[in-house]
Amino acid sequence: MNYQQILHDAMEAARPVLGHGRVADYIPALAAVDPQAFGMALATNDGEFYGVGDHDTPFSIQSVSKLFTLALALPEGGVGLWKRVGREPSGNPFNSLIQLETEHGIPRNPFINAGAIVVTDVLHSLTGDASGAVRDFLRAESGNPLIDTDPEVAASESEHGLRNAALANFIASFGNLENPVETVLEHYYAHCALRASCRDLALAGGFLARHGLRADGTRLLTRSDAKRVNAVMLTCGTYDAAGDFAYRVGLPGKSGVGGAILAIIPGVGTLCAWSPGLDTAGNSVGAAVALDHFTTATGCSVF
Ligand code: GLN
Repeated sequence: MNYQQILHDAMEAARPVLGHGRVADYIPALAAVDPQAFGMALATNDGEFYGVGDHDTPFSIQSVSKLFTLALALPEGGVGLWKRVGREPSGNPFNSLIQLETEHGIPRNPFINAGAIVVTDVLHSLTGDASGAVRDFLRAESGNPLIDTDPEVAASESEHGLRNAALANFIASFGNLENPVETVLEHYYAHCALRASCRDLALAGGFLARHGLRADGTRLLTRSDAKRVNAVMLTCGTYDAAGDFAYRVGLPGKSGVGGAILAIIPGVGTLCAWSPGLDTAGNSVGAAVALDHFTTATGCSVF
C-alpha cells in the first residue's frame, strides 16, 4: 500500500475545510495557533513512518494526553481505577458536570474532563508525579527528549479553569480524589499542556496498535487491557460525537482541543492528524476529514 500517497490525498481531502470550525479560545493561550495548519503522520507496527504537512510541528496535545494517563494508571491501579470511573459514553460535552451528581461523583468515562481528573489522581498516587510520568512516557516512546509542558498554556488553563476546578471539587466532595484538588488540577493542566507533534504522538500511541507492547518490546498493558483501552477510545474518545466519529472514521480515536486526533489501527499502526479548527463537540474538523479519507482509501478500519 502506498501510504505516503494516501496521506497526501487525505491532506488534500482536508484542505477545503482547513480554517473551518473555531480554534479553542476558552484557553486564551491556545487561540494564537494558525487555523490553516495541518499535519498527519502514520507509524506502522513494522517500524515504517510516513508524514505529510506540518507533521513535525509541535502543538498542545490537550485531551489526547488522557489516553496516556489512563494507560499508565492501568497496570497497577486497574482494579481500583474502574471502581472510581466508568466506561460508558456520556453523550454530554467533555466538560459537563451534569451526570456527576446523580452518579455520586463517579465520572462516566476516563476521557471526559471529570474522568480524566480522577485518572490523574490515580496516576499521581501511583507515581508521585502524574504529569512527569506522562511526559517521560511520551519522550521514551517517540524518542523526542524535547517534549515538555508549555508553561504558558498550563498557566492559561489554570487561570481560566473555573469549570475544571468545579468538577474537581465536586468529585472530591464525594470522596473520589485521594490527593488535594490543587495538586490534581496542577498535574491535569500540565499533561494537557504538553507539546508534541503528529510524529511524536503517532509513535507514542504505538503500544495500542501493538496490543500493549512498548517501542522497546517491553509490555505496558496486557493484551486484554490494550483491547479495552481501544474500546473505550472508540466509544468515548471523541465525547458526544463518538458515534459520528465511529461512523465516519471507524477507528478508536482520541481528540484534544489543540486540534489533534490520535487514531489506532490495531495490529497495523497509529495515525495522528492535526488541524486546529474544532467542531462544536471540540473535535478537529480537518483531522476527522483526513482520517475518514485514510480509512476509506486503505480499508484500515475496525469495521
Ligand atoms: N485541558 C482541556 C480542558 O480541560 C482539555 C479539553 C479537551 O481537549 N477536550 O478543558
